[in-house]
Amino acid sequence: MKNVNSKEVSVLISGPFNEPFDYVLEDKNTNLSIGQIVLVPFGKRKIVGIIIGDGTKTIPETKLKKILQVYDFEPIPKPSIELMNFLSSWYCVFKGLVLKMILSPIEAITSPDYEKVYKSNFLNQNEINEIKITNKRKLVLDFLLNLDIGKSQNDIIKQTGVSKAILKDMTQKNLVQEKKVYKTLNLDSHFLKNTKENKKNYDFLNLEQKFAVDRINDAIIKTKSDCFLLDGVPGSGKTETYFETVRTCLDQGKQALILLPEIVLTPDWEKRFFKKFSFAPLVWNSEITKKKKKKIWLSALNGSAGVIVGARSALMIPFSNLGLIIVDEEHEQAFKQEENVRYNARDMAIYRSTRSSSPIVLASATPSLETFYNAKNGKYIHLTLPKRATGATLPHIKLIDLIAHPPNKGKWLSPLLVGELESKLKNKEQSLLFLNRRGYAPLSICNSCGDKIKCVNCDAWLVEHRSKNILICHHCGYSRVFENVCKKCGVEGQIKACGPGVERIEEEIKEIFPKARLIVLSSDTMNNHKILNDTVERIKNNKVDIIIGTQMIAKGHDFPNLKLVGIVDSDVGLSGGDLRASERTFQVLQQVSGRSGRHSKKEDEKGVVLIQTFDTKNPIINAISKNNRNEFFDKELVSRQHANMPPYGRLASIILSSRLERKLETFSSDLLKVAPFFKNVKIFGPAPAPIYFLRGRFRRRFLIKSDKNVNIQDVILNWTRKINTPNYIKLTIDIDPFSFM
Ligand code: ADP
Ligand code: ZN
Repeated sequence: MKNVNSKEVSVLISGPFNEPFDYVLEDKNTNLSIGQIVLVPFGKRKIVGIIIGDGTKTIPETKLKKILQVYDFEPIPKPSIELMNFLSSWYCVFKGLVLKMILSPIEAITSPDYEKVYKSNFLNQNEINEIKITNKRKLVLDFLLNLDIGKSQNDIIKQTGVSKAILKDMTQKNLVQEKKVYKTLNLDSHFLKNTKENKKNYDFLNLEQKFAVDRINDAIIKTKSDCFLLDGVPGSGKTETYFETVRTCLDQGKQALILLPEIVLTPDWEKRFFKKFSFAPLVWNSEITKKKKKKIWLSALNGSAGVIVGARSALMIPFSNLGLIIVDEEHEQAFKQEENVRYNARDMAIYRSTRSSSPIVLASATPSLETFYNAKNGKYIHLTLPKRATGATLPHIKLIDLIAHPPNKGKWLSPLLVGELESKLKNKEQSLLFLNRRGYAPLSICNSCGDKIKCVNCDAWLVEHRSKNILICHHCGYSRVFENVCKKCGVEGQIKACGPGVERIEEEIKEIFPKARLIVLSSDTMNNHKILNDTVERIKNNKVDIIIGTQMIAKGHDFPNLKLVGIVDSDVGLSGGDLRASERTFQVLQQVSGRSGRHSKKEDEKGVVLIQTFDTKNPIINAISKNNRNEFFDKELVSRQHANMPPYGRLASIILSSRLERKLETFSSDLLKVAPFFKNVKIFGPAPAPIYFLRGRFRRRFLIKSDKNVNIQDVILNWTRKINTPNYIKLTIDIDPFSFM
C-alpha cells in the first residue's frame, strides 16, 4: 500500500463523519501508509480510524493533535477503502459509519492476542547446507524456510519433534529469531495444491457444469472481474459447480468469499464443504463468538484465511487478496440491510469484485428480476444448469381450485390435498405443507364488538401463538399473555382466531392423522442452529412424516424422501402493492416446489406439488404450474418498463419518523415545500407509511422515482440539506429500497 510522505496525515475516524481530520505522528521513525489503523484523540474520546492520505497542511503542525497509537497490522487494503467510499456515496451514508463496519470487530484491533513465533534467519537451502548443525536443528530450519509469518513453538515441536531447549539454544545462536505477532488462525489447509484431486472432482460434473466451471475459472486465472449468473433449478448442481471454482481460486493462492443468507448458512452446508475440501471454511455469522470473529478478521487481513463463508456483513471483512466472490441465493432479501447503514450486500459485492479484479458468481434458481435483466442484456454472463444433476425428474405441479374443492368449514386443507397426504403416508413417503405465516392465527377479533387486537407500539395486528399462549407483534416483538377477554368491550370468551398460521395447520393435521409424526419448522420453533440441525437430521433419517413450515423451509435443504409439497395458501403476498410482491411470491413458491422429489428418477415416482388457490387464473400461479419462469419474468419486465420502475428507472425512499406526531407532520410538509422540480424525477408523498406507527414512532415516507441516468443521490442530498432536520426527527434515506413498509 502507498506510503504517505509526511508525518502529518488525514485520518478518517469511525463514526458519523464524512471528512477526515488532520493528525501528526510524533515518532519520526515509523513509516505510515494509507489504510494503516491508528488510535487518535477526538474531543474527550479516543477513536480508531484509518489513514487515508497526507495532511491538508491547513493547520500548523504545532496545533495538530497527535496520533496516540499506530497498530502493527497490515493496512486496510485499497479495495476495502474503495468499497467504503463507493458504498458511502451510493447509499448516502457517512463514510465513517461504513468504516465502522469494516473495523468491526473492534476488539481485534484494540486488544489482539499476541503469540511468540520463530522465523528462520536463513534465506535458502544452500545457506542451511553450508553450516554445521545437528539433524534436529536442520529439521527446524527446513520447516521454517520460506515462511513469511513464522511458526509458534507448539507448531514447531509438533512438526519436528525437537525440545523447547533446542529452540531456545537456536535463538541464542541466532539461527532463528523470536518475534511477537498477533494471533491468527492456523490455516495451512486453506490453500490447496492438489491437482490430482481437482481432476477427479471435475470429471464428475456434467457438461453444463463443466462449461460453467471453465468460464469462471478462466476469469479467476485471468483476473477479470466478470459477473456471472449461475442459473439453475433447485438441485441442478450449482453448489457443486461453484465449489470447483473455489478450488481454482485457492489453487491460485487467493482468498474466496461465499455470501449466503444467514438462514442457509447451516451446519449441513459446512459439512458438505468439509467433505469436499477436507478442511472447514471460516464461518462468519451472528452466532460466532467475538473471539472467533477477531481471529477470522485478522486472518483475512494478513492473507492466511482462504475461504470465508458468511452472511452479508462478511463483505466488509478486509480481505488482502480476494480472488472470487460467490453470492448464493442472490435474490434473497436478507442481503439488504435495513437498519443503520442501509445497503445491499449483493450489489456492493459486485462493486467489490471490480476492485480486486476478480469474478463474482450470483447463484440462484429464481434470480431477482434485476439480475435476470442484466443477464438478458449481456451485462452479466448467463450460465444455465437446466436439469437436476442427480438425473431426478422435475416435480409434477397441479393447482387445487379452492372454490371447486373447498376445505371443511373452519379448516384450511382441501380434501384433494388431504387425500394426497394420506397416500404419501401409506407409502411411507414424506410431505411438506408450506404456509408463510408464523403462529396460530394472524388476526384475532372480538366477536362481540368487532375489535381487531393491535400492537401497542405499532400499527399491526398481534399474532396469536397458541403453543405459548401469547399474542405477539411480528414487527417490534411486543407480546402479552393471551386472555379470552376483550380489552375494549370487556366481553369474555368471544375472541376469535381469523385465518391460519402454521400452528393451526398442525392442529388440523393432528385431527386428521393422529398417528403421523409432525414437525413445525418456523423461526419460532427453530430458534438456533443446533435445533435446526438436529431437526434436519431427523427429517433426513425419516423420523418425520409431515413437515409444516414457513419460508424457512424453502431454502437449501435436501430431503431425499420428500415426495409431496402442499402449498396451503398461495395467495398470500400476491396483493399488497409492493414493487416486488409478485416476484417474491414467485420465488418462494418455486423454491418450495423445488423441495419435492429431488431424488426421484422414475416417472411414476415423480415428486408432486399441489398448490391451493382461489385464483387459478393468476399469472404467477400459472407460470409456476407450467414451470415457465422466463415467460413470467418477461411479462414482469414489460410491466416494470411501463411504470418506469427498476431495473428501467431508479427508486429511493425517504423515511421520516418521530415520537411526536404533529411535529412530524409539520416537518414533512416543510420538506415537501422545498422539494426539487426536475422533468425526469417524480416525488410522491409524504404519505403515512403502510405501518404508520412502529416501535413507538410515527412514520411518513417519500418515494422518489427517476429516470435511470439521473443521479438520484445528488437530488436527494441537495434537497434534504436545504432544511435542518431537528433532533426529534429521524430522516433515513433508502436507495434501491426493498421494503416499502
Ligand atoms: P443446487 O445447489 O443447484 O441446489 P447441488 O449442487 O446441491 O444443487 O446438487 C444437488 C445434488 O446433486 C447434490 O446431492 C449433489 O451432490 C448432486 N450433484 C451435483 N452435481 C452432480 C453431478 N454432476 N452428478 C451427480 N450428482 C451431482
Ligand atoms: Zn409492535
